[in-house]
Amino acid sequence: MSIAENLAKIESGIHSACERSSRSREEVQLVAVSKTKPFDLIAEAHEAGQLHFGENKVQELTEKQPQFDDAAVQWHLIGHLQTNKIRKALPCCDLLHTLDSLKLATAIDRISCELATTTQCLIQVNISADPAKHGFAKNELKIVIEEILSKPNLQVLGLMTIPSYDPDPEATRSHFSNLREFRDHLENEYSISLPHLSMGMSHDYHVAIEEGATIVRVGSSIFGAR
Ligand SMILES: *Cc1c(COP(=O)(O)O)cnc(C)c1O
Repeated sequence: MSIAENLAKIESGIHSACERSSRSREEVQLVAVSKTKPFDLIAEAHEAGQLHFGENKVQELTEKQPQFDDAAVQWHLIGHLQTNKIRKALPCCDLLHTLDSLKLATAIDRISCELATTTQCLIQVNISADPAKHGFAKNELKIVIEEILSKPNLQVLGLMTIPSYDPDPEATRSHFSNLREFRDHLENEYSISLPHLSMGMSHDYHVAIEEGATIVRVGSSIFGAR
């Protein structure tokens, strides 16, 4: 199958999931995760109308991002960001999905200020309490969220999670609903707006949408196995 055909198949999957959950298609953004894939495949997806791309390494992001001459293209950094790479990453990144520590928030805020920019980000939550995953535990986040939200050059738009892998997408449903409920709780508790929920990948994006995802991150179903 071509990349255009793969995208059409995902599009129809997103559409059905939105219908099943009485949501509007416009509420869900597809990020095509292009990590490890060459730029010609990314260009092929762009030809087919795809505008949002995700990378998990700063090095790859900074190599690929300048290659498009289309202001409508948006790049998402979806992998852990080390503080020593912030300065390199920020100019290439439209949305950072992986704000995973107060230290990182403080450093991004400071560097964003130096670069005279505001960085849009999602806070990563380790919703399945997986020791191998980055992200705040829910209780940890409650302690620091007000401090994170007070940073003038950071704009927090929502939450992101990568649950522990389970081949059965239904097994992950409770993690997705858990993130949505936690988001609702934070919004009420702190009178803030966290509109975005980045959750769901190739094998479970449809379940994530049913549970409220506004951004799904799909790689292998578009670009093939890595
Ligand atoms: C690689 C990756 C994805 C995409 O995974 P697929 O299973 O290939 O769809 C999504 N999110 C993150 C954070 C990733 O690193």
